[in-house]
Amino acid sequence: MADELTEDDHNLSKAERTLVYPVLSRRAGGLSIGINLNPGKECNWACVYCEVDGLVRGAPGPIDLAVLERELDEVLGEALDGRWQAAGETRDPREEIKDICIAGDGEPTLSPQFEDAIEIAVRLRRRHQLDATTRLVVITNGSRSGQPATVAAFEALSAADGEIWFKVDAGTEEGRAAIHQTRVGHDRVVAALVGATQIVPTWIQTMAVHPHSSIDAIGELIREAVAAGAAPLGVLLYGLRRPSLQPGGEELTAYSGAELDAAGAALRAATNLEVRVFH
Ligand code: SF4
Repeated sequence: MADELTEDDHNLSKAERTLVYPVLSRRAGGLSIGINLNPGKECNWACVYCEVDGLVRGAPGPIDLAVLERELDEVLGEALDGRWQAAGETRDPREEIKDICIAGDGEPTLSPQFEDAIEIAVRLRRRHQLDATTRLVVITNGSRSGQPATVAAFEALSAADGEIWFKVDAGTEEGRAAIHQTRVGHDRVVAALVGATQIVPTWIQTMAVHPHSSIDAIGELIREAVAAGAAPLGVLLYGLRRPSLQPGGEELTAYSGAELDAAGAALRAATNLEVRVFH
């Protein structure tokens, strides 16, 4: 019998695992098998909209890679057996496993085993004969994009036809300080975007939320990065769906559907890129 997953609900308990979880993802367009390299909820940023309960500043330590490999093997097997399919669904479960996504409860590129995790995901995808149907995705804040270890991992991801979703939620240093509670200089963000997109296929991922978002400033930053040599695939634009669990999160309000559509149109016009809007 299928277990019901709610959309975007990282349901570790339903999968009975510690490092691998199934989620119905709007942006993936179906079932996403998540890998969490930050079980201690460590991140170098503290985004005001972050949904990680108990987020801590810092970097994760090592995980047990044998456990990761075993859990991913088991969860992919269960997905192929239809465990996460909706009741009455008759499609081949293989078609519904849209991606294996390294994201989790913190910034994954901080993990000392980030590249090992990519290698495991590549190996398990092949073992389950999912190469033709299941993408490999890394969701990142981009802060470690220029580090040699991250570059090597992105190269491995690119060689496996994988992609990254690179967070760009603000176009100015003040905007980033407000939304990420971290100061990141303008030139550094532009260089990180240029560098990442030249290594691995890259979608820009943008959260629009009141009162912080300035779509004009984000469009300006993306234009500047493209002029400097960045070649993103496009922008994934989404809004707040669940309450923030961070201090200060209570002041956030979601964009309406019409506001998100208008923001998408404005970003499209400003950047000339494909912009996918997720309500
Ligand atoms: S980068 Fe991601 S995990 Fe880190 S605080 Fe921001 S939303 Fe949360």
